[in-house]
Amino acid sequence: MKSKINVKKTLLVFLALFIIIIALDVIFFSSDYFEGNYFKMDTHISVRGDGKNMDFATRDILRAIDDVDSNMNANSVHSKLYKLNNITNNGIEIDKKFEELLRLADDLKTKSGGAFNIAIKPVIDLWGFNGDFKKVPTNDEIKTALETVNNTKINIESEKISLNHGKIDLGGIAKGYVSDLSREILKKYNINYAIIDFGGNILTYGKKSGNSPFKIAISDGNKGSVGYLTVGETCVITSGGYERYFEENGQKYHHIIDPSTGYPASSGLFSVTIISSNGALADGLSTACFVLGLNKGMELVNEYGVDAVFIDNNKKIYITKGAKFTVTAPDYEIINNG
Ligand code: ADP
Ligand code: MG
Repeated sequence: MKSKINVKKTLLVFLALFIIIIALDVIFFSSDYFEGNYFKMDTHISVRGDGKNMDFATRDILRAIDDVDSNMNANSVHSKLYKLNNITNNGIEIDKKFEELLRLADDLKTKSGGAFNIAIKPVIDLWGFNGDFKKVPTNDEIKTALETVNNTKINIESEKISLNHGKIDLGGIAKGYVSDLSREILKKYNINYAIIDFGGNILTYGKKSGNSPFKIAISDGNKGSVGYLTVGETCVITSGGYERYFEENGQKYHHIIDPSTGYPASSGLFSVTIISSNGALADGLSTACFVLGLNKGMELVNEYGVDAVFIDNNKKIYITKGAKFTVTAPDYEIINNG
């Protein structure tokens, strides 16, 4: 009888210990790592992160992307922007965040001397960069489209936008804006850390275990990388002519247009990467600097007080003082810091 009770007691003690160990494991060693790959806004999106509700956060981020698409994708006939560009003369209602984004685009246009200009859309359309049929336009076509661009007045009021004529395109800034929205969602769900890649536009969020920093590669345009940036929580956004382009008569034409010529920017740069916690700013600035070239681009970067890595067509690298960049590819050379 006595030994039976002892056996029962021992079993109970073991059971209790077992439960405690499992509970401790869940509390201290649980990994809620989540990874997913998606395709939206004509862009490959990868989400990686650790946090109890990472799956819910990802679901909300994908919804936010759909929302941005239905508001700001000038190429989608169902979007608000399409309505503004093609249907109504009375303008469209927008929310506060959309309004702020447009004001940022306006500020970038002024400070870049027009190198960044969301009214560039008629020229983008001529080249066919927003559709399937891409071609080199004639000089006359470009001249006419540029007249429209230069005469477009974007009227931003409180939660409202209207155009006198012309069309606008937020392709140069929208992905960075998505990064900003994603950060808010990750914060809401108390995620430990995450890396979200919107077609080469990277958002790093939170802290990895052991506080190790994030290492973000900069592309060599050919499946490899030039090197990597060591960063904390921020956005790392790159513009280059190597990703979206077409070829005609042996010549490559990419999708970042210099508004002063109407032709793809050819400022001698291979890519510009901006590091800033303001994703929309980083995105707009990377496009602007790619158009402006090294010297004027660096001036603009300094004016906004953000960090950057400029890589030119001769594999020379120019970085601001605050950027921690490590070169890994042979033949590339860091020329200066700042
Ligand atoms: P990606 O979106 O491919 O990462 P960018 O951020 O540099 O690259 O944006 C390029 C897009 O921005 C183009 O597809 C076009 O929609 C738009 N764009 C092109 N040239 C300009 C310009 N000078 N100013 C503003 N937007 C531009
Ligand atoms: Mg951009």
